[in-house]
Amino acid sequence: MPHVLVLNASYEPLGVVPLRRALVLVLENKAQCLEESGAFMHSATRTIPAPSVVRLKRFVRVPYRGPVPLTRRALFARDGGRCMYCGGVATSVDHVIPKSRGGQHAWENVVASCRRCNHVKADRHLLELGWRLRHKPAPPTGLAWRIIGTGHRDPRWLPYLQPFGADDAMARIDGISA
Ligand SMILES: [Zn+2]
Repeated sequence: MPHVLVLNASYEPLGVVPLRRALVLVLENKAQCLEESGAFMHSATRTIPAPSVVRLKRFVRVPYRGPVPLTRRALFARDGGRCMYCGGVATSVDHVIPKSRGGQHAWENVVASCRRCNHVKADRHLLELGWRLRHKPAPPTGLAWRIIGTGHRDPRWLPYLQPFGADDAMARIDGISA
């Protein structure tokens, strides 16, 4: 089932919903379609272009949402699909301070890593190996990351996400397998 990007009336990205739910919003006149996917939906009485981006007609106040959820996809996007130790193609998630030694599963302590580095590092500290991180890991900021972290994506969303921290993030995850 394709997914649809939902924007607030202010154009802030709110989330991603299944196509069916977005259609209901449009049919109930709660949202306007900003971008069409090119596909069509058929009901008994009419044919409607399937939306790819919709915008709510009334502004919805969104409570503070806390940090961007730490998902494998969002992490790989943050690190550009590259191993944070050697720069090779990342295939796994590594805890900088190993979990076995008290490291947290948190943005500040996880990095994308290639299989080799992950294997060599095992449960050692960077100091013991004399390794350095290519960047200091930090939580991503910007509403766009919540969208990227869902794993759903569509090139039509990019112009709507760019002002909210996506910038090249969508492009960066192009090379990353799902
Ligand atoms: Zn590596």
